[in-house]
Amino acid sequence: MAEKTGIMGGTFDPIHYGHLLAAEESRRQLGLDRIVFVPAGTPPHKTDRLITRGEDRYAMTLLATAGVRDFSVSRTEIDRKRPSHTVDTLREFLEQSARPCELFFITGLDALLGIETWADFMQLPTLCSLVTVTRPGYAVAGLQTLPEAIRRVLKLVEIPQFAISSTEIRARVRDGRGIRFLVPHLVEQYIEHRELYREPEVPRI
Ligand code: ATP
Ligand code: MG
Repeated sequence: MAEKTGIMGGTFDPIHYGHLLAAEESRRQLGLDRIVFVPAGTPPHKTDRLITRGEDRYAMTLLATAGVRDFSVSRTEIDRKRPSHTVDTLREFLEQSARPCELFFITGLDALLGIETWADFMQLPTLCSLVTVTRPGYAVAGLQTLPEAIRRVLKLVEIPQFAISSTEIRARVRDGRGIRFLVPHLVEQYIEHRELYREPEVPRI
């Protein structure tokens, strides 16, 4: 039988408990066999600031998921030289997976509502089911505006509302406010050790 694989894409700058909860609830509620976190390489949509090096974001994602059963991390987008497009990543998973797999692409509601700006987004329903988890500040009603082909493959997963974002975590580090219990302990230590997020963010030209 095909292995049900959840793909959790994101910038993960840094990874936080909102991401982990989204992945775990999707796994549990949809009976997925495994979750693969895929930190983005050069995200086409994050044009407002310079993002942290891929290797640091990859390392934090590894630290957050180390020892968690059924969770793993992929380097595919980090290693790709071209910008990361979800369709390419999904095709690669389908082609290169050792066993037959059925893909479930997991996003928060905010990300999914922007799906019409993604490269070749109408191809997505041919590659995967789309899973969207609830996120504070984004109304489920917004999904009605998406094309029928997208809505057909959509699965809504309600999760405990966790009003945290990487943006907020970066701001907290910069301002010297704590991030304990918002990110896994090892991620908190990594941020401290590597002195991440201490400087004002650099706008991307
Ligand atoms: P940033 O503030 O830098 O955009 P973020 O917290 O939104 O960071 P991303 O890496 O952009 O994190 O998000 C990766 C995925 O996780 C997206 O699909 C996003 O919608 C989802 N996500 C992030 N935080 C939450 C949360 N608190 N609850 C539900 N989904 C979330
Ligand atoms: Mg985001």
